[in-house]
Amino acid sequence: MTDSASRVAVVTGAGRGIGAAVTARLADDGFAVALLDLDEAGVKKGAEAIVAKGGKAVGVALDVSDAEQVEAAVGRVADELGPPVVLVNNAGITRDNLIFKMTEQDWDSVLGVHLKGSFLMTRAVQKHMTEQKYGRIVNLSSTSALGNRGQVNYSAAKAGMQGFTKTLAIELGKFNVTANAIAPGFIATDMTAATAERLGMGFEDFKAAAASQIPVQRVGTPDDIANLASFLVSEGAGFISGQVIYAAGGPKD
Ligand code: NAP
Repeated sequence: MTDSASRVAVVTGAGRGIGAAVTARLADDGFAVALLDLDEAGVKKGAEAIVAKGGKAVGVALDVSDAEQVEAAVGRVADELGPPVVLVNNAGITRDNLIFKMTEQDWDSVLGVHLKGSFLMTRAVQKHMTEQKYGRIVNLSSTSALGNRGQVNYSAAKAGMQGFTKTLAIELGKFNVTANAIAPGFIATDMTAATAERLGMGFEDFKAAAASQIPVQRVGTPDDIANLASFLVSEGAGFISGQVIYAAGGPKD
């Protein structure tokens, strides 16, 4: 990246959980950050906290699966902060159920947010990256891509994120744009708390049971993922592209 290139990062699903931690970390790394999320109050608060610490940030409400909202949000980020050169496709939802009980809506919603949302966001942001001849894309996959009971929709989406990432790496490499996927194992956030609730377990018991199966004997934190994202979007990671990095405290979840 040349000195004149912008240092603007966009993170989706930045209102809480992993996205909030990634955003805070990228702001500490010196990026001006755009926090995008369905939850307007969450991203406004997150952006204010970054500005209060002396950083540059803007919070924008959008649904990543809506093409018009995505185009408008990315346009606003470019106008207010400058052309984005980092994109973290992190927004996500679960609608878990065994296949015989899964509805079309459960399927469409999950594929719509993870896959279509990442496609729309990347299509909008890559214009700026290719113009800048620099870019870093990080997509959130999951160990569920390898298969997970009750998550046929989510597993398909997260496996899809891996193929999406590899193809972006092939198409955009000549513009000095890299694309990599992070596949987290169990990370303690509202998403895993909701899974515990669905299974009728207390969150602490659920985390302890998960930790006992993980080689490092603990569950992950949003900061574990933010640390890896920070590296993958750095200039020093420029020869790493099209990779899926499992961050799961062991070789799998
Ligand atoms: P989370 O706490 O549930 O946060 C997800 C965020 O995405 C929320 O702020 C949510 O907004 C936002 N979002 C959902 N749908 C959206 C949409 N259509 N448009 C814009 N924003 C939307 O989840 P998390 O645990 O931090 O997960 C973040 C990412 O990591 C997801 O892609 C997830 O699949 C992946 N992941 C998580 C784990 C884990 O163990 N937690 C493991 C592997 C992968 P609202 O607050 O308004 O709903």
